[in-house]
Amino acid sequence: MTTVFKFGGASIKDADAIRHLTPLIEAHRERPLVVVVSAMGKTTNKLEALLAAARDEGRRDDYRECLEALQTGHRQAIESLFGDSPDSPAERIDALFDELDAKHREHRRDAYARHYDETVCYGELISTTLVAAWLDHCGIATDWQDARQLVRTDACHQAANVDWPATAAAVRERLAGSDRVILTQGFIGGTAEGDSTTLGREGSDFSAAIFAHCLEAREVVIWKDVPGLFNADPRRFDNAVQLERISYAEATELAWHGAKVIHPKTLGPLQEKSIPLMVRSFETPDAAPSVIDAERRFDADVPCCILRENQVWVEVRPRDFSFMDEPRQHDILGRLVEAGLHANLVDSSAMRFALCLDDRPERLEGLIGALEADYDVNREEALTLLTVRHPQRGMLDILSEGREALAERRNATTAQRLFRSRDCPATWHIPEER
Ligand code: ADP
Ligand code: ASP
Ligand code: MG
Repeated sequence: MTTVFKFGGASIKDADAIRHLTPLIEAHRERPLVVVVSAMGKTTNKLEALLAAARDEGRRDDYRECLEALQTGHRQAIESLFGDSPDSPAERIDALFDELDAKHREHRRDAYARHYDETVCYGELISTTLVAAWLDHCGIATDWQDARQLVRTDACHQAANVDWPATAAAVRERLAGSDRVILTQGFIGGTAEGDSTTLGREGSDFSAAIFAHCLEAREVVIWKDVPGLFNADPRRFDNAVQLERISYAEATELAWHGAKVIHPKTLGPLQEKSIPLMVRSFETPDAAPSVIDAERRFDADVPCCILRENQVWVEVRPRDFSFMDEPRQHDILGRLVEAGLHANLVDSSAMRFALCLDDRPERLEGLIGALEADYDVNREEALTLLTVRHPQRGMLDILSEGREALAERRNATTAQRLFRSRDCPATWHIPEER
């Protein structure tokens, strides 16, 4: 049965990290093995900056500089890994950078989202070309596959929806039964017309789940720079503990509320086929992973804390003395959907409807402009949303001490509070049970 591995940006951030990958793949002798790889390090952020420069006539020099810096970073990794070996993929990678440059010329007057997908996908196309060459160089036979021809999607750019029957057919036809390591890209897909699409930032975990679902894999392993899934981001909470086992449903809740370690769409396709997800550390591969499967028994064992930063609180009020009733809420939420935004918290009262949103200026400005045509709109930026799953009594008050909450929401399993980021500590501490 197939195993699917997923390596994120951190696990291939430079030449040393890529060297480190080889033994992890060598140790897994069974085939088929599908390896899904992200762009190197922070390449996707850099490609987004490149895109912004490409769309601005006045920033031609910035564009050149960004492109050259990216290319230099990749050349350095290649140089360190291959030296002057004939296996070096330097020429192929240079050709991909030329293609990327040409795509920017071709698409810079297209809609932003289309231009994004046609260019940002190069982070993964380049990284996988490099990693495939490295594995071949190390004697591990690989089969490089273009995920744009496997993960078939609609044309909803930057958040493409998977066409499951077409994807399953393509994946099975091209990948089933291979005795080589199948190496492909996370995050990217393609339409039937051959246009590139992306699945949303951090979408490579979801890609791994798509391949696993279509191949009815035995398990998915996502290799991270942390030992597993914790009850809070171990970089932000000084007493976070690893979760040994939780259910698909609970992991989806954590991811949905912003636990960045797994993309929220990852769990659904795995749960449908009962495929367990292991979260392991590429730094300490022998340590026990976190296991996510159908078992729900341990879900509420410990409270879990999630921080969502860079939030904006948008308050919308009718101009006349009328209520913020369902038709108005419907209108506002409709505009939110049109802007491609998602509310992380919603609050309503007689004459006010308020939304907590991720600060994504390229989408937010359009939404706020549209709302201002018909309503009074206020916004406050630089906020942090704290979510606690299965909070113990009094816990949220301790976590809120000394901070004003701009908004609050609570139900049987989840409590949320919105704070000003400047009032929040750099390192948080989960209160012990009283
Ligand atoms: P990838 O390299 O696969 O893209 P990410 O950077 O997306 O990996 O995810 C790993 C990071 O997620 C960790 O470095 C950690 O800081 C962060 N993280 C946030 N919440 C959690 C959590 N609950 N458990 C573990 N890690 C978390
Ligand atoms: N490279 C993409 C990103 O940084 C996808 C991923 O890493 O999951 O968002
Ligand atoms: Mg990620």
